[in-house]
Amino acid sequence: MTQLQPARGTHDLIGEEFRRHHRVIEVARRISALYGFEEWATPIFEDTRVFSRSLGDTSDVVTKEMYTFQDRGGDSVTLRPENTAGVCRALVSNGLTQGGLPRKVFYAGPMFRYERPQKGRYRQFHQIGIEVLGAAEPLADAEVIACGWHIQQELGIAEGTVLEINTLGDAASREAYRAALVAYFTGHRDRLSPDSQTRLEKNPLRILDSKDKGDRALIEGAPTIFDHLTPEAAAFFEGVMRHLDRFGVPFRKNPRIVRGLDYYSHTAFEFVTDRLGAQGTVMAGGRYDGLVEEMGGPPTPSVGWAAGVERLSLLLAEAGLTPPAPRPVAVVPVGEAAEGPALDLLQALRRAGVVAEIAYKGNLKRRMERANRIGARAAVILGEDELAKGIAQLRDLDAGTQESVAIGEIVRRLA
Ligand code: ATP
Ligand code: MG
Repeated sequence: MTQLQPARGTHDLIGEEFRRHHRVIEVARRISALYGFEEWATPIFEDTRVFSRSLGDTSDVVTKEMYTFQDRGGDSVTLRPENTAGVCRALVSNGLTQGGLPRKVFYAGPMFRYERPQKGRYRQFHQIGIEVLGAAEPLADAEVIACGWHIQQELGIAEGTVLEINTLGDAASREAYRAALVAYFTGHRDRLSPDSQTRLEKNPLRILDSKDKGDRALIEGAPTIFDHLTPEAAAFFEGVMRHLDRFGVPFRKNPRIVRGLDYYSHTAFEFVTDRLGAQGTVMAGGRYDGLVEEMGGPPTPSVGWAAGVERLSLLLAEAGLTPPAPRPVAVVPVGEAAEGPALDLLQALRRAGVVAEIAYKGNLKRRMERANRIGARAAVILGEDELAKGIAQLRDLDAGTQESVAIGEIVRRLA
């Protein structure tokens, strides 16, 4: 029979890859908790409208990347391409929009986008993310960014990334900026990619997010939003930057940062790296003041980010920070009479928090070979004669030394 392969754009997490992946999520979970975020898990598939309403009809995600299908009952459902919309939907569906705001949410899990797979870009990938729901203050934006920075520092990869931030202003700033962009790009209409010509009509800001080479050249010369900010929007942006300074988070202003999704206003930011080739954005987010309303809730200004676990994990690999596999203690019985006591010791070690293993069969030689193969740090050899005297041989497999130890002492020695 033909061997089956993982579906295109999906990948298995095994060994080192799993350990890196797990570490990214564990660190993010622990650090975000220090900032007062609580973890939510929302469904992996949602009513398609959760995404079509929130992400905007012209976003790449909605027009090209969603896994949408009719289920057997005829409902249109979509595998989540991101989790912010789901979190906002959950806030509304669970009646959490009234009291208790702001709410601070952390999530981690798989996301699905129909994309051309390449290094750091998959069809099933994973994100970690945080959201502050119901806070209009620039301090919330700065805290969210500081938490993301802290996570990268704790992972040991912060040296390899740069924070770039921008503002998309408020509605009035964007209105003025949109007009300036339309004027500029209309002058170069025939040099725009077909996609960007469509964007020019539907959502000109989105052109700034284009990955097309020709577009990129035009974008270089485009006007920036800094000249079109209302005094309020400018003050908000100043506030975010002031708090970032206070938190000690280094950043670079970049007027070209717009987010791919429609729901953003004010702060937009990305942590970028030059270490992953074309997939340079590892963590990205911003302020989305209108999204909860799109889900049928009251106005709930919010801010957050999402980060690609695979990309953070690649940075860990790159920096030689793959977490080591645990090194067990091998319990090695010699002779039938030793097998029962060996199982007792095995469980006593595990109960004491020591990773311990036993080979299911084999003589002393075979079992020692297996101990080496699994990277055991020590072997406890239980021979029949010594057992009768209440002792065992404790062998340090790194040093190659061996000593007799009273059975009752072994757990304490290894814990
Ligand atoms: P890109 O510009 O790389 O397509 P994006 O703007 O579509 O990214 P977001 O929607 O902001 O990405 O998602 C946040 C983060 O999730 C990205 O910065 C990236 O680290 C990760 N990410 C997004 N799409 C993928 C994917 N297909 N495979 C792996 N990681 C991804
Ligand atoms: Mg994308």
